[in-house]
Amino acid sequence: MAKLKVDLNLIQKYDVPGPRYTSYPTAPHFTDEIGWDSIRKEIIRSNEENSGKPISLYFHLPFCRQLCWYCGCTNVITQSQVAAKEYLYYLNQELEMVTPFISSDRKVVQLHFGGGSPTFFMADEIRKLGEYIHQRFCFMNSYEGGIEIDPRTVSEEKIKVYAEIGFNRVSIGVQDLDQEVLKTVNRVQTYQQSAQTVEWARAAGIKSINIDLMYGLPKQTCISFDKTLDKVLEFKPDRVAVFNYAHVPWLKKAQAVLTPLRPEEKMAILKLTIEKLTSNGYVYIGMDHFARETDELALAQKNKTLQRNFQGYSTHAGADIYSFGMSSISQTNSAYWQNEKDLLLYYSRLNKGEIPQKKAYILTRDDQIRHQTIMRLMCDLELDYHRMSKLLDIDFKQYFKPELLSLKEMESDGLLVLSPDFLKITDMGRLLIRNIAMSFDVYLKSDKQKKFSRTI
Ligand code: SF4
Repeated sequence: MAKLKVDLNLIQKYDVPGPRYTSYPTAPHFTDEIGWDSIRKEIIRSNEENSGKPISLYFHLPFCRQLCWYCGCTNVITQSQVAAKEYLYYLNQELEMVTPFISSDRKVVQLHFGGGSPTFFMADEIRKLGEYIHQRFCFMNSYEGGIEIDPRTVSEEKIKVYAEIGFNRVSIGVQDLDQEVLKTVNRVQTYQQSAQTVEWARAAGIKSINIDLMYGLPKQTCISFDKTLDKVLEFKPDRVAVFNYAHVPWLKKAQAVLTPLRPEEKMAILKLTIEKLTSNGYVYIGMDHFARETDELALAQKNKTLQRNFQGYSTHAGADIYSFGMSSISQTNSAYWQNEKDLLLYYSRLNKGEIPQKKAYILTRDDQIRHQTIMRLMCDLELDYHRMSKLLDIDFKQYFKPELLSLKEMESDGLLVLSPDFLKITDMGRLLIRNIAMSFDVYLKSDKQKKFSRTI
């Protein structure tokens, strides 16, 4: 992809609160009125409809030693290593209870450990978790195993264990390399720690290195972030995720001590980032993600097999996701369900012999149609009406007549091109993909949807 030119005026015009669409409908719609009985039926239905089709597994490992003040994750701050041992016991319990519902003809195509900081766990604890999983599931010969790494709590030994139990992709949490910025957000991490982690991962044979950065943090400037990007490019990552700092102090109290950048400062950093990475051999996939032109993510986007789910973009089309651990969210084509978000409640449900599912949502036919439409739009950056009609078994143009008409203004702003047969997102439109997707979201007007982070 050639260097992407960014129009700041247009970004400013469309900078409104909006969902990130890792699910549709979004999590605020999940309800605690749906119990495990209903979910169990959805899993059985998925086993029947998707017999032999692969699945993804996600494990939420919530512990961190210290809170980064910008953090938006569901985590538990503790210094006690005993917490990890206890949590492993409960994860094993949950696996024991849930696994029998998942048909054994469904192999694992993707495994992900997220958090919190999976690196909080000691090498032998992660090895143990690997055993719990491999005892119960069959894996495909070629599967993707990804783990999130905090360079402050990882070690060479831990990385060797990740490789040993089958992880072939790491996401290294760098955020920024400017010490002043890191100090302001209570994340003291040296350049050396990040560089060393990249080296250890390569030496352990991890094939894909992903660097996670964050823009919009206090004290960041174009000059400081430019230097960070230069150093990150020297790591030669396969993917770079540059997450938008979401300032939501009404949800995340610690953020209240931070003074976020002014929108124009934040946008200038975003412009710099996109232009720099796309002129250095990276494709802007959309929604904060960049990948080398030869990376599977970029190729999947080209081949229209890219997917979007709770872990962001994925190359594994349509796999159900079974998630374990507190707050984790699972999904099939027709349902989402989330575990207890509080650690003690998660434990207490398991102690009572209950599956710790707390909230859920069963998709209506209209939800499924809109879900597919939004996901295809965000992954393929186009909607071919004929293809969508076939995929969804509807007359797509007729079904979405008002939505397509509402896109006229975005068309005249150069975000997309509308033709009688398709809708195509322009390079500029990639940046505002959330706004375009919002046109197909029927729930946006409802009250509980009001407090999303801003789209830029
Ligand atoms: S290490 Fe990650 S999950 Fe933990 S507090 Fe920092 S940002 Fe949040």
